[in-house]
Amino acid sequence: MLVSDPRPADPKRVREAARTVDVIHETDVLVVGSGPGGLGAALGAARAGARTTLLERNGCFGGNITQVGVEGFAWYRHEQTIDSEGIGRELEDRAKAMGATSDEPQSISQAFDAEMFKYVADVVVAEAGVKPMLHRQFVAPIIDDGAIRGVITESKSGREAILARRVVDATGDADVAARSGAPTRKTPKEAMLSASVMFSMTGVDKREFLDEVKADPQTYRDWAGNAEWDIETTGKEDELFSPFLRKPFKKAVEAGVIPPNLITLAGTWGTVTDQGDLTYLNLVHLSGYDGTDADDLTRGEIDGRRQAIHAIEALRRFMPGCEDAKLRNFGMTLGIRDTRKIDAHYNLTEQDVREQARFEDSIGIFPEFIDGYGVLVLPTTGRYFQVPYRSLVPQGVGDLIVAGRSIGGDRISHASVRSMMCCTVSGQGAGVAAAVSLRTGQPFDRLDLGKVQEELRRQHVRID
Ligand SMILES: Cc1cc2nc3c(=O)[nH]c(=O)nc-3n(C[C@H](O)[C@H](O)[C@H](O)COP(=O)(O)OP(=O)(O)OC[C@H]3O[C@@H](n4cnc5c(N)ncnc54)[C@H](O)[C@@H]3O)c2cc1C
Repeated sequence: MLVSDPRPADPKRVREAARTVDVIHETDVLVVGSGPGGLGAALGAARAGARTTLLERNGCFGGNITQVGVEGFAWYRHEQTIDSEGIGRELEDRAKAMGATSDEPQSISQAFDAEMFKYVADVVVAEAGVKPMLHRQFVAPIIDDGAIRGVITESKSGREAILARRVVDATGDADVAARSGAPTRKTPKEAMLSASVMFSMTGVDKREFLDEVKADPQTYRDWAGNAEWDIETTGKEDELFSPFLRKPFKKAVEAGVIPPNLITLAGTWGTVTDQGDLTYLNLVHLSGYDGTDADDLTRGEIDGRRQAIHAIEALRRFMPGCEDAKLRNFGMTLGIRDTRKIDAHYNLTEQDVREQARFEDSIGIFPEFIDGYGVLVLPTTGRYFQVPYRSLVPQGVGDLIVAGRSIGGDRISHASVRSMMCCTVSGQGAGVAAAVSLRTGQPFDRLDLGKVQEELRRQHVRID
């Protein structure tokens, strides 16, 4: 069988031959992508009684947590914070009970152990009765009569079809929505949030490291100083402790140990363990990389690893406790913060996340936490906003709903809803909505929200 036309009219193009693909699986709710959004959606749908499948292109569930190494799940949480309740909090508690967390240094929260969380995710997915499908990448939607009926995947098993009555796009990049023809938007590349190669070190002398941190405590005010870290706060954040590192890199540049252009190295550390692991090193920030462009991803991985190696050398030379340390691991993949957002039935706004918006179609709450595009607001008070159901519903494609960081909204609202805890809120809302839509036969854009909210409350989600 020919897979491409041997005689294309344009030598720079090939034409794929049409082919018939085996249907390998059928399900009620198919969740594509297994980050905080996808996990929330899969567990929410299954607990609401739907036969649910969780599809993931990599070999573990968890998205940025396990694949990039993002461990700070709720680093914004302070005493007065009114936080989301639901699957996000459950994941934090469950991971703690399974020995997969440590106390997060700047907040009242638990930081995940990214490696152990792979196992935590396996366990919670199995317990919920969700069918796991790892190592399959979504490549195309199956569309019929304006609605999605399933997806085509590629994997070591070849090209396969999965049929589903409802699909949740939790790819983070709105891959399913975009390929289904739903309108999406991206921030211009030069203004996108930076990408990061995350890494962890081993061989750190914990006591010496923490003594230095105590001797010279950094605050959020210390973030100011170069383009990436010049931030607007509300003032109340400025004096709070931040596990922030910049001085070692500045000294390394001055001493000629690392190239002058790496004056951009700066950022936060997450956990330092008794065994000498220093994890979640969020120090490399790459601007002008679009996470939906494979060439940018290639460049980002390579540039990022090079910068990380320089960062390690700087820490070994100029950060007490790191003298004998070395690389433990890079994230499995480049960390992407900012790509497509759907143009939803309602797009969240800066005003909504800054001014405690309330919505009749609330599917959960999230504290007033904004982190991105030059703004940092920490929820040190009890202020919070509600997440509206309509911001999950794409236009133009039936039976498809979106969860996680690609829900509809402007840039500053994205700086809030991209937070992993908020992704679990939109995820659980999307999963429950999918189950209710199946039960009632109502499409997503005409769903009985009372029933969705009732089920979310039953699942211990705080809605108002
Ligand atoms: C470096 C970095 C540091 C961050 N720090 C923090 C922090 O401290 N706290 C915080 O709350 N947030 C942080 N964030 C943001 C947060 O990690 C993300 O916004 C959040 O994880 C998004 O969740 P999600 O479920 O939408 O997507 P993701 O976590 O990106 O998960 C998407 C999943 O979908 C899978 N997938 C994608 N495409 C396909 C496909 N075509 N087929 C099959 N599977 C697919 C991916 O493999 C992945 O598992 C950080 C982000 C980065 C990059």
